[in-house]
This record gives sequence, structure tokens and C-alpha cells, in this order.
Amino acid sequence: MRDFASFPSLLRFPSFLTALLALSAAAPATGTEAAAPRSHKGESVVRLQLPSAPEARQSRAAELLVLVEASNSSLSFWEGTDVHATASGLPAITAFCSHHDVGCTPLIPDVQALLDQQRAARSGDGVRDLRAFHDSFHTFDEIHAWLEGVATRNPQLASLVQIGSSYEGRPLLVLHIAPPNRGGDSPSDALRPRLWLQSLLHAREWLTGAISLWLIEHIISQYGTDAAVTALVDSIDLYIMPVANPDGYAYSHTNNFNARFWRKSRSPNAGSRCVGTDLNRNFDHQWSTIGTSSSKCSDIYHGSAPASEVEVQAIQAFVMAGGSSWKVFMDSHAYSQMWFVPWGYTGTLPVDHEEQLRVARLGRDALTAVHGTQFELGTGFSTIYPTSGTADDWSYGVAGIVHSACTETRDTGRYGENALIQIASYTSLVSVHLHPCLCPPG
Ligand SMILES: [Zn+2]
Repeated sequence: MRDFASFPSLLRFPSFLTALLALSAAAPATGTEAAAPRSHKGESVVRLQLPSAPEARQSRAAELLVLVEASNSSLSFWEGTDVHATASGLPAITAFCSHHDVGCTPLIPDVQALLDQQRAARSGDGVRDLRAFHDSFHTFDEIHAWLEGVATRNPQLASLVQIGSSYEGRPLLVLHIAPPNRGGDSPSDALRPRLWLQSLLHAREWLTGAISLWLIEHIISQYGTDAAVTALVDSIDLYIMPVANPDGYAYSHTNNFNARFWRKSRSPNAGSRCVGTDLNRNFDHQWSTIGTSSSKCSDIYHGSAPASEVEVQAIQAFVMAGGSSWKVFMDSHAYSQMWFVPWGYTGTLPVDHEEQLRVARLGRDALTAVHGTQFELGTGFSTIYPTSGTADDWSYGVAGIVHSACTETRDTGRYGENALIQIASYTSLVSVHLHPCLCPPG
């Protein structure tokens, strides 16, 4: 009864990072016609290895944050402790490493060369099947239309919910998947357990949105066929929000200055030329206490107040309205192959830490079984660096969802193989491993 095609073309996808860079050249220009893409000549990405001892790690992380903040955009964070440096910014980061006993490894020595390489590879790919939706990244409008089509073609299983509007007026869309005859509006639905999965809270992490779309398609197409998928849908409602930051995502498809690496929302900041708030520092939990920035130009600007951003307000309100029915809250980011459990804001472990780690280990093992990848597990605070106001800290600390997690998807940053194949792991992870662990008998 499902009308989806199969997706062998996914297996041809390059790694996340190379895909990200390649697509920056090939991305459709939405709303801008003439502007030339920014040249990234002379730019590089460096991976820093902070000390493992907690106090030293926190101290170095704080100093690194100050350095990046003061760099006037010559330095910026990618994921984790990977720092994107312009030619003028590179000496500063190199000096930081040597003066602070911090490992400093070139990850991408020449960003523009990689872009050029990937552009050439794409232009030579004459056999690429552009009709296959999942074979390329898509604009927000394309994703919106696709989600509407999914809901229209599968009314017994899927419905599209708008939980609000972005600052620029784009719909905040959540696809609700529930078994036939449980379309989502009956009072008993409130009693059913729910799983939340969001992606693209950070605009530039295109792969996370692609994973969500593929996951939707896989679940819809395999319901009634695949036993694990069927069992999952029959016993837990899935709420998947592929584009949590539609304005930022739409901007990342333009040719505006540095747009492909845009991370934040697009709301203006009073008294500043700089636009946007880091939505994953804006949630109303320990807001602005650590690992964020009050600088409006910063990539990790926490906003003017807790949940100042309408996108965050909408997610918070929708999740809170679901009460204790939520069993899982997952926030999908890219890249690094890491799985964070709360907390990000403190090194003190929560009372549910062992249970959270238990399930995280199952997820890691499911991924390893499929691809041999090793996701690093731990709290965000101890694994990378302190953060506050994050979605997963909020969902645990305020919404009370024990199984709250932030995943940093495959790969580790360079030359990974077929990154998108990982989504098959996500499917098995969610359907086979997470679900039986989370739903208590009865
Ligand atoms: Zn992110």
C-alpha cells in the first residue's frame, strides 16, 4: 500500500563533510540570484584535543571560547572542538595549542580545495539520478511539499502537524506517525507513549535533516512489512521534526556571505548588525550559565532571554503539552560520532545517568553492529565541553523525559564512507533497541 520507492542511490552518498562542502557549491540559490559564493581560499579546519582531566578541560574550553569570540570571525566553531580558521586566524589557533598544551591536528588543510574537488566530481557525475528525492539535499520548500505528500498519500499512518511559525513565517512542521485508526486526534492518544526526534536545529547540519526524511520514508514504507518497524509504530507515536530551524536552513541555501556555514536562527538582534541566535543554547534550562555567548555576533549566542526564539518556544510548548507521554527526546546534530546524555551544563551526574547510559550503549552497539563505527558516549559536559540551554538538557531537566539525548552523527569529520547509510542504523537503533528498552510492560 505504500508508494515509496527503494533507495539504493543513498549508498552512493559521500561522507557528511564532503557532502556538506560539495553541496555548498551545488545548492540551489533560494532568493538570491547574482551573488557569488564566498571563496574559502586559505581557510582550514583544525581539530583540538583538549585535556582529559575535567578541570583542565573546562578551563581550556573556556579559554578557547574567549579566543574564538575575540577573533572577529576569523575563527569559528564547527562541531565539537573543530575550529574553522581563515588564513589570518590560523596563527592564533596554532599559538593557542602550543601555549596551552592542547593537541592541534589539521583536519581539513584547504577548505576551498575540497570544495573545488567535490564540485568537479559532481559535474562529472552524468548518471546521477536527480529524480530520486533522497539522493540530494533539498530546500525547505521542497521538504515542506514532500512532507505534505507523505501525509496525503498515507492518511492512515501519517499526519502533518504545524506547531508554530518561524520568525520569518515558515511553518514549523512535525510529521506524526501513528498506527492506522489511531490518527492522532483521539483522546486515548494522550495515553500512548511518544518519541520526539528533531533535526536541523543548527541550519548547516544538512545531513541530519536528510536522515530524518529517510527515516520517515523507511518507517512509512516498511510498516506492515518489517516486523521491528511495525512493532515500533504500533506501540509508540513518532513525532519527527526534520527542520527545527527553517529560517536558518533556508538561509544556508543562499549564496549570501558564509551562508553554507550558517548555524543560528535568523531573527534580528537589537542594536547589532549580527543576526540570529543559537537555538541549541536558547532553551529555558540553565540558560546562559555556561558554554554560551552573550555576543550577538557569536555562533553560540544564547539569545536575549530564555526561549526568546519562536522556534524554541514552539518546541517547548508542544512537548510540554504532551506531558508524561513523552518517552524519548532526540536532538540530531552533525558531525562527530558522539552520543550525549544530560547534562551539558554541569559535571554532576543526574540520578538517571546509569539508565540513560544503558540505552545509549544499546544505541552505540546497534550502530557498531551495522557499520563498525564507534560512537563516543557520555555527558556533553565531560565529552566535549560545557553547554547550557540545550534542547536535550531542557527536555530532561524541564520536560522530565529521562531518555533525552543529543547525537552527533557519523562521520568523524573527514573522508568517512557513505555517511548516509548510517540512517539504516538509526532505524534499527530506534525500532529494535530503544523501543523495547523504553516501554515498560503494561
Ligand atoms: Zn549542531
